[in-house]
Amino acid sequence: MPKSSALKRSSLAWRASLLAVIALCGFSGCATTPYRFGAAQWYRTSPVLEASTASQPIERGRPNKVVDTFGWVWGIPDKIILWDRRIDNHRIGPQTEAAVADYFVKNELSSVKVRLNQYHPGDDWRRLAANDAVGAGWRYTLGALSVLGETIIPGRLFGGDHFNPFTNTIHIYSDVPAVAVHEAGHSKDFAQREWKGTYAAVYLIPGVPLYHEAKATNDALGYLLTESDEQTQKDAYEILYPAYGTYVGGALGSVFSGSGTYVASVLGGHALGRIKSSQLANGTLPESQLVESRHKTGIQTTVSTSDDDGHSIERIGIEFP
Ligand SMILES: [Zn+2]
Repeated sequence: MPKSSALKRSSLAWRASLLAVIALCGFSGCATTPYRFGAAQWYRTSPVLEASTASQPIERGRPNKVVDTFGWVWGIPDKIILWDRRIDNHRIGPQTEAAVADYFVKNELSSVKVRLNQYHPGDDWRRLAANDAVGAGWRYTLGALSVLGETIIPGRLFGGDHFNPFTNTIHIYSDVPAVAVHEAGHSKDFAQREWKGTYAAVYLIPGVPLYHEAKATNDALGYLLTESDEQTQKDAYEILYPAYGTYVGGALGSVFSGSGTYVASVLGGHALGRIKSSQLANGTLPESQLVESRHKTGIQTTVSTSDDDGHSIERIGIEFP
């Protein structure tokens, strides 16, 4: 008796999850094609923050064997959930770095900072104080809490790629270009918002993240279908769909009890992502038709090492046209 009712519940949860994952495509049509590149005049960003970011938006943490090995091991569950060993591997390669630099230039985003496996809370607190594009009321409450979280639970150890809208900073620990572009997609979404603090705060309401996450994922898919190679595009479907499934599972978790819903949502994401990816491979993916690249030329980047807070920091500059 309890077994069959549990079964019934899990099959209901399975269907609900599948529907919810399909909703990812539903409310904004999956990848938006033709892709809409962002333009500087759309954005409401802080001039102060821009002045201190634009020339060198990307920084890289110095490799540390002990810290990075701990981070790799801690990230094993996430590697399994998204079924990719590059998740939280704490070793960011040139492809991921180039993907985000490229995205910034083509979308004209010049006040977002990217930390590639870097712990630099001093600068995060400085950026929080400087970011007057977010209301001070939100920045010194929720924003301060978020930076406090990043300070005492470092992503350098515990992973978790994310965008912090209060510091306008992307933190990357996984070497997956599609994931980095997804985070950059969040930064583009926030850059266009007038009420950034409120938009960040509503993310805490169960179910609401599905909206923010769909925006970032759809932007990333649209962008990558236009600008990247086929392997990166396939990765995007195979990783960003189950990643979206984790949010669906989280949202449904507040309705259904047990972990069945979560597992079903993630598996649903894997299944759909793989369908999309194989369509892409055999040329039947509808979204991948008629896309034209914006800039065919490579993006110029410069690398320099400087001393900050007593340790050397590798900074990567981008030439904005
Ligand atoms: Zn996201």
